[in-house]
Order: sequence, then structure tokens, then C-alpha cells
Amino acid sequence: MRREEAIAAAAESRGPAPYAFPTQRSRGRRYPEAPHPYRGEFQRDRDRVIHSRAFRRLENKTQVFPQRYSDHFRNRLTHTLEVAQISRTAARQLGLNAELTETLALAHDIGHPPFGHSGEQALDRAMQDHGARFDHNLHALRIVETFEQRYAEFPGLNLTFEVREGIVKHSRDYTAAEAPELAEYELDLRPPLEAQLIDWTDEISYNSADLDDAYEARLLLLPQIRAGVDLFAHMLDQVHDLYPHAPEKLRFNEALRRVIDYFVTDLIDTTRAAAAPFGDVDELRRHAGRVAGMSAEADRARRQLKAFLHANLYNHPQLRREKERAEALVEETFRFFMERPSQLPHSYQEQTSRLPLHRVVCDYLAGMTDTYIAELHRDMIPVRRMAR
Ligand code: MG
Repeated sequence: MRREEAIAAAAESRGPAPYAFPTQRSRGRRYPEAPHPYRGEFQRDRDRVIHSRAFRRLENKTQVFPQRYSDHFRNRLTHTLEVAQISRTAARQLGLNAELTETLALAHDIGHPPFGHSGEQALDRAMQDHGARFDHNLHALRIVETFEQRYAEFPGLNLTFEVREGIVKHSRDYTAAEAPELAEYELDLRPPLEAQLIDWTDEISYNSADLDDAYEARLLLLPQIRAGVDLFAHMLDQVHDLYPHAPEKLRFNEALRRVIDYFVTDLIDTTRAAAAPFGDVDELRRHAGRVAGMSAEADRARRQLKAFLHANLYNHPQLRREKERAEALVEETFRFFMERPSQLPHSYQEQTSRLPLHRVVCDYLAGMTDTYIAELHRDMIPVRRMAR
């Protein structure tokens, strides 16, 4: 048996870990539904996420590079698929509930506004002027609870409690004071390991993908990455010994896949060891800190890679220009609708009787794709001119 087959067989024979979330223990849905004859509850949730409008719109939302850079760089949809793929691998190795993990991975970014983090920051700043905030996890919850209108019997996607809880808690712990509306999600408890995992697989995915796309865009060069990222340099040396004559691009690829493999393997091993003392999911939930994580050594490498990307890529003059343009566009569009609520689509105007205008405008903008908001912004110009 090959090494990989032996490991896969071992994972199979281990069966579910004691701290895995058992599907039959789900607290169910807000609006009770009869079980499906052959799909489990988390499978149904996964399918509902994939069939949602917010999920399809991820295709036209920036991850880091706006679409005009290349048609094969990551957008938020392909990033999401990479997170799902890594998460499934890790969940299976850890004996976790792979369907709950996959659903959470697929849903983890559906609350993202247009233009990646620039859009998120601009929207948050605009909201702060009105004493409110924009938070993409909380927005994702409102999407799956309210905004998606697909079913005759209930608003939203009517997802299970565990998927909604994971959407809220996967990347951070909210306190009851900052988010009283989240009381039902038991904020003093940690989320199950399936949700904790997503924060790590998300970061492994984007750190490696951003390096990949930046190298391809020639915003980062190989000697620069080698000098700034020790783990990458180490892998590149290994690759050079194995394939001394391979073209540079292939050596880059080989080094990068080793970097991903290193982080994923470390995440699996470290999390397995940390979770071992927990007899069930309730015990793990009550633990003071999060259990999923990396070893100190891998975490140092992760932090160095992240700092390198911040210093050399996310603040690259070319991307900074994009960022400023995106922020201005979001801010101007926000202001436009705050000053002219009558220009909002009818369904949003109706909501202003129940919600403050800034929240309605924020919801409207957050749902938009990059292309949609850019076109809308262009069309706003004649309206603004007429008003002068
Ligand atoms: Mg993500």
C-alpha cells in the first residue's frame, strides 16, 4: 500500500472522532421541515448555499486582484472552492463532520461586499458615520435568514442552527455586549471544531493563492519571495535538488504546493493532538479557547508569510491604486443613496419603514457584485449632474 493510501485507510477506519459534531444532534431549523429521504440535514444546507444568489454572486466579487488583471486569478468564488477543498481534506483526516465543514466553507464568504477588503472597509467606515458597523459575518447571517427569497414556506434559506452558528462564529468570538442580537448562538461557548477549522483553512488558502496570483502578475518576483519567506525558500531548495532544470514557473508551483501541504498537515496534526483530551463536542465547546490551530513553528512561518504579503503585495502601489478607486466608488455610491433614498429600488424603499436608511443602503450595496456597483456608479453621474 502506498503511504497516501495507508493514511487514507487509517482515517477511514478511525471513523468519526468523539469530538466531531454528530448530524443527528442538530438543533434543527427555525421553521421545522420534514427530513429528506436521502440527503442529511447538513447536505441539504450545503445544497441550499450553492443554489443561493449570494453564492453565485461571489464569482463577480474581488478576492485580491480585480478581474481585469487576468481571467484565471482567484475571485471570491474560486477562493471559496479552494477553502472547501482544503477544509474537506482536513475534516476527513480529523474524523470531523465533513458535510458540516464543507457547508461552512462554502458559506464563509457569502457576506462579502464588492471589491474585497477595500469594499468592506469603505462600507464599515460609511456605517460608522451613522453609529453603526458593517461586518461580513453578521451580514452573511442576514442573507441566509432574510434576504434570500427562494422558498414558499419561509424567508431565507432556513439553515440548521449549527450552520448559522458557524457562519457567525467561524472567524471570531463576539461578546453579548457587542452583538446582543446573537444571544441565541450562545456566545460564551466556542463553536464546534468543524467551524473553528474554517478560519485556518481560509487563511492557508488565501495566503498561498495570493502568493500564486501575485507571482503570476509579476507583482512579486521569485528572488524577493525567497528572501522574504523562509518556508518558501526551504521548499524551493528541495525542489531545486529534485528538478534542477525545471523552468522557474514550475519550480515556483512545486514549492508552493509543498508550502500548502506543510500548513495543512501541521493544522491536522496539531489540531488532532489538541482535541484528543475532549470526550465530546460539548466539552470542546466549553473550553475557554479555540482548539483548532497550528504548531508554534508553523504559526511563525504563517505569520512571516502574512507579514510579507502585507508589506509587499497588499500595499503594492498598483494594488493601492485599485484599493483607493474601489473605496471611493463604494463611499460615493453609499452617499448617493443616503441623499436620494427615492432612487433605491422599490423593495429597499419599503424596508426604510422598519430599518434605518443607512442599514438599508448598506444591505443594498453589500449584495452587489463588482460589475454591478461599477455600472451603477457610472449611471449615477448624470443624476448627480441634474441635481446641481
Ligand atoms: Mg475567505
